[in-house]
Amino acid sequence: MDQLHPHVIASPAADAILRRDAGCMLPVYARYPVVLERGEGAFLFDLDGNRYLDMMAGLGVNALGHAHPRMLAALTGQAVRLLHLSPLYSNPHPSHLAERLCQMAGMSGAFFSTGGSEAVEGALKLARSFGARNYSTGKHGIVALRSSYHGRTFGSLSVTGQQKYQADFGPGLPGVSFIDRNDLAQLEAAVGSDTCAILLEPVLGEGGVYECSPAFLREARRLATRHGALLIFDEIQSGLGRTGSWFASEPSGVRPDILILGKPLGGGLPLSAILVTEDLFHAFGMARHGSTLGGGPLACRLGLEFLSVMEDERILDRVTETGAYLKQRLQQLVRELDVAVEARGAGLLQGLELTVPARPICEAALSLGVLLNCVQGNVVRFLPPLVIDRTHIDTAVDLLADLLTAPQTAAHDAMLVAAAG
Ligand code: PMP
Repeated sequence: MDQLHPHVIASPAADAILRRDAGCMLPVYARYPVVLERGEGAFLFDLDGNRYLDMMAGLGVNALGHAHPRMLAALTGQAVRLLHLSPLYSNPHPSHLAERLCQMAGMSGAFFSTGGSEAVEGALKLARSFGARNYSTGKHGIVALRSSYHGRTFGSLSVTGQQKYQADFGPGLPGVSFIDRNDLAQLEAAVGSDTCAILLEPVLGEGGVYECSPAFLREARRLATRHGALLIFDEIQSGLGRTGSWFASEPSGVRPDILILGKPLGGGLPLSAILVTEDLFHAFGMARHGSTLGGGPLACRLGLEFLSVMEDERILDRVTETGAYLKQRLQQLVRELDVAVEARGAGLLQGLELTVPARPICEAALSLGVLLNCVQGNVVRFLPPLVIDRTHIDTAVDLLADLLTAPQTAAHDAMLVAAAG
């Protein structure tokens, strides 16, 4: 790729848009000072034509990068036929997608909704309803993980194990208890006859990129079965190829009762799903759950094309290969730099923990043409398009190494400017 050049981030036109954003959109997101206009493959372009290597893929949504020709053809082909129907009418695409997802996951039925949080809500409702219908006593307890992230709606927020997101919004859902990831003793102590669900992210993404061990997932399966609780895996971030297998939980051999998917599922359109086992096929019952916009023809058509491209371009194999390379490069940074503490994660969901705040580093990287992402204050999270290659990884990691090591370089000057802004 071209030599990276510092970009002028806020040209007058971009600046006007950033000001308008600030004036009329609620200040909920810590936006980066750039206005992006178009994308192609692993790159994004701002209003002034500056190019950025995208290492965060719209928070993991843009798995095939930007403007993939097959996705565009599927989008336009479907858009002129039918955009929206409501779930009350049938169309070929939703059940086709449901069938494919179930085959991939060894599940028996799907319910579609729009975003990740909405799918988590659906899974929680299903678990509560399953507990209420099958057991006479109050079986409504939910066991979740500290540092987990499941969304921002009331139910999903209540099971998110991070106090900073819950503060001021309480009281949340009753009956939720949190345990530490990979702690088998805490897990065993928390799950009992009143538990209706154990909810886990096989790889905690937003929480700082931490993997659940296969032994922990297996123990969760065993305890859920023993106590008649449902095991729910939230693979909204870790699923659909991100870690090099279709689902991050796959290598453990554990099948959950409910699998939650989202992010890349709709190829950039809002689409999420809960997949359930045969036992749960009728668990909601008629007219007891719904989503007007969930699982429409357009999003499902894109979902089908996304899966086909993943298969045709053998992207799982590529993620395994590029993910191993990224891990190796990040581990090298940990060995060489005091400021880099640990490299974690799987496939193309990885994190580099730093001893310093990560946001100024990401802002400096932006000013030099690479979009990085940070979580938990001091972790640089890599969530790139799954189609990147080694040269993209080298570009991003070399720049990161520069920013972390060379205080006297232009890169560091850019970092200071960005941090001050
Ligand atoms: N669960 C996980 C594991 C996630 O990573 C996210 C989004 N980061 C969500 C749930 C919530 O998804 P959404 O933002 O689409 O509601």
